[in-house]
Amino acid sequence: MAHGLARRDVVRGLAIGVVVTGFDPAARQWLSGSAGRGGVSVPPLTGRLLFDEADLAAASDDFGHIVHRRPRAVLQPGSVDDVAVMVRFCHDLRIPVAARGQGHSTYGQAQVAGGLVIEMGTLDAIAVDGDQATVQAGARWSALLRATLPLGLTPPVLNDYLELSIGGTLSVGGVGGASQHYGAQVDNVLELEVVTGTGQRAVCSPALRPELFTAVLAGLGQCAILVRATLRLRPATGNVRHYILFYPSVPALTADQRRVALDGRFSFLEGEAQPVPGGGAGWQYYIEAAAYYDTTPPDDSALIGDLNYIRGTEQIGNLSYFDFADRLAPAVAFLQSTGEWYDPHPWLNVFLPGSATDGFVSSVMAGLTTADIGASGVILLYPLLTSALRMPLLRVPNEDVVFLFSLLRTAAPDTGALSADVMIAANSALYRQVRHLGGYQYPVGSIPTTRSDWRGHFGPAWPLVVDARHRYDPRGILTPGQGIFPSPHPGQFPGP
Ligand SMILES: Cc1cc2nc3c(=O)[nH]c(=O)nc-3n(C[C@H](O)[C@H](O)[C@H](O)COP(=O)(O)OP(=O)(O)OC[C@H]3O[C@@H](n4cnc5c(N)ncnc54)[C@H](O)[C@@H]3O)c2cc1C
Repeated sequence: MAHGLARRDVVRGLAIGVVVTGFDPAARQWLSGSAGRGGVSVPPLTGRLLFDEADLAAASDDFGHIVHRRPRAVLQPGSVDDVAVMVRFCHDLRIPVAARGQGHSTYGQAQVAGGLVIEMGTLDAIAVDGDQATVQAGARWSALLRATLPLGLTPPVLNDYLELSIGGTLSVGGVGGASQHYGAQVDNVLELEVVTGTGQRAVCSPALRPELFTAVLAGLGQCAILVRATLRLRPATGNVRHYILFYPSVPALTADQRRVALDGRFSFLEGEAQPVPGGGAGWQYYIEAAAYYDTTPPDDSALIGDLNYIRGTEQIGNLSYFDFADRLAPAVAFLQSTGEWYDPHPWLNVFLPGSATDGFVSSVMAGLTTADIGASGVILLYPLLTSALRMPLLRVPNEDVVFLFSLLRTAAPDTGALSADVMIAANSALYRQVRHLGGYQYPVGSIPTTRSDWRGHFGPAWPLVVDARHRYDPRGILTPGQGIFPSPHPGQFPGP
């Protein structure tokens, strides 16, 4: 099975013209048509360089709908060379640049005020060879899974929502219910091709330029743009036995989660909190687990008979592997139909030390109401084993078992939820407590973060981040929306 990378690029390139023709370094503005002759010419591209209002507005927004930074141009690359050529152009003129996958960050992480946004979605080729897949960074996980499953293969770790770009999740880490076995998505990468902040194409792997490989994975786009990845695949089963098991409290939930994470009996393990039914105050908790199988379903009593869930509350069913992996799709379609999918999402995502999880989460939940997360808000709580998490820039506490705790808030005031501002202030306060306990943010949410916070966040890995930045992006043009390093020209570009 193969989708040819090169042929596809050529075909796309023939179909698309170029709009912007130059850049005026004195006025710091893009030029189009014949006006471009007076400035520095934009190199020939096979893709499209746009500065229409609609394109700029789309690139000034994300899934959070909280932060809006307007770029001056948007590149839809027709090839990897387009990315390299335009990054070199921006490097020479000190124009800030950000790659945008599916824009599902929630706080402007893929935005760039006055610079260039590169929409990676046009680079989405996928090729499967043996037990490896080579993908362009703009491909989505859903497309990869559709390509691998007919061959009996799957990426080892899938995120809960499959419509995220592979480059976007490899830039942050990528965790899911199989991470207890296989680590994060960044732990399953064999090789990368990147475009550095000087516009150089470079291949890297654990053996070839290992310092670049390490700095790119979960590196938040600070030293290079990821354009291609070779990923490990695993045999996939056809079916999944799916379990929902309810618990009355955080300690009851986490005790069983720890136990089953450590003995590895489930293929997939997550957990959530939800309001107690009937509109009363308080929360109930559940394990969501799965056992993968082909023909004979697993023995339920062997898997859950010794667990301390509330008897009679268990929900058990069978799903195909793809339907299980894509289980959020119906809920997403529903939220899109009600419009809540497009409301602000001030998310908090943190990794907690296992030893502090029960105390911290119990105290947060005691003060939390549905107004704090919104009617369609989701609360995640599930364990990860740090022995499987090997990439140093994905920062997790220094304990064997850590927990992902996420308040996936929706600020929809017409449904009685608090405003986005109030939720962000709450995120800030919780983040301080989490850092005090030795926890870290998973940097996909909406937490105002200073440069000194970032130094603390990366801790012993900070020199790695700084060295890679100096070496591969010496003019500091890449991914300013993360707020880790000063931007070269913050907000200085006039309109076109
Ligand atoms: C509904 C939903 C469900 C989610 N579920 C999960 C989950 O189960 N597990 C999980 O781990 N995360 C999850 N996330 C978080 C998600 O992994 C991150 O928000 C991720 O960054 C989104 O991917 P994206 O393609 O939208 O990236 P974007 O938001 O477009 O980009 C994220 C960051 O990476 C940079 N970037 C993007 N592409 C590249 C590239 N090719 N090279 C270099 N830098 C790049 C951007 O500049 C930006 O800084 C979820 C998010 C949403 C909205």
